[in-house]
Amino acid sequence: MNPKIIDGKKVATELLDMLRNEVTTFRKQFHRKPGLAVILVGNNAASSIYVKNKISQTMQVGMESFEHHLKEQTSEIELLTLINALNNSEKIDGILVQLPLPAHIDAKKVLLAINPTKDVDGFHPYNAGQLATGGEGLTPCTPLGCMMLAKSIIGNLTGVEAVIVGRSNIVGKPLAQLLTAANATVTLAHSGTQDLQSVCRRAELLIVAVGQPKMVQGSWIKPGAVVIDVGINRLLDLETQKHILVGDVDFDAALPIAKAITPVPGGVGPMTIACLLQNTLLSANRRERQVV
Ligand code: NDP
Repeated sequence: MNPKIIDGKKVATELLDMLRNEVTTFRKQFHRKPGLAVILVGNNAASSIYVKNKISQTMQVGMESFEHHLKEQTSEIELLTLINALNNSEKIDGILVQLPLPAHIDAKKVLLAINPTKDVDGFHPYNAGQLATGGEGLTPCTPLGCMMLAKSIIGNLTGVEAVIVGRSNIVGKPLAQLLTAANATVTLAHSGTQDLQSVCRRAELLIVAVGQPKMVQGSWIKPGAVVIDVGINRLLDLETQKHILVGDVDFDAALPIAKAITPVPGGVGPMTIACLLQNTLLSANRRERQVV
């Protein structure tokens, strides 16, 4: 692989190998497996693939997976009742509700119902607050993965000029908190940002999470910058008539300019599941040590 291309699969595999060893130690010490419950409502094709991957990797690191595949017509109250049961189950250390949920279910209400100590996605306002105030909580997985990839190239982030494009609660905002805590100088850009191109060109570390295929052009990138592309966009390749995945950055244009860049797929994506399992083990250890 071109040394400029950040191999997310390799970094994720290293993390998973480490987790497998730590899970072995956990099982010897506490005579049980860390348990992750995954809830899928309905038959969204992309969600089903994500869930299948999560379950398979959970088992590969030696954890126990509890799958709850509910029918599309499941009522909000039925889902909340299941979450309540999982909150109270000794076997469950992490609860993940795969989004999006069907329109008749209030996703905010569902995420609020998860016990924050088992909220391995880190989406609960309690965990968002802990992250913002430097407290102990669970941090969203994709931002954690981005941080690991950035550090794998840059090392110490102190003083680094970092620009994040996209301010969602699950990627941009928590990433801004993590980078700030790591002493980077952070700009959080969004659709209201003026002259986005110039803002991006300032970045020594540019992280893009907008959901707009190939929006960031080569000319937006500072020579020698490290570029982390979070975007996952499905496009029809006109030549082959097959669907392909592309990021939010024009990869071919950015590659010669950047110091290093993540590919899509194979960059941030693999890190997200590995970080989910890391959060599950963290939660399991905290519960056994009664520090939650
Ligand atoms: P959201 O749609 O929730 O947020 C998108 C953000 O991008 C918003 O803050 C929006 O600004 C900003 N934005 C959109 N268009 C522009 C524009 N033209 N200029 C500047 N800012 C813009 O998306 P997510 O954060 O959930 O996801 C972003 C991308 O990352 C998607 O492609 C998604 O599939 C991918 N993703 C990948 C993951 C992985 O594991 N690799 C995990 C999660 C997401 P505003 O707030 O002003 O509207």
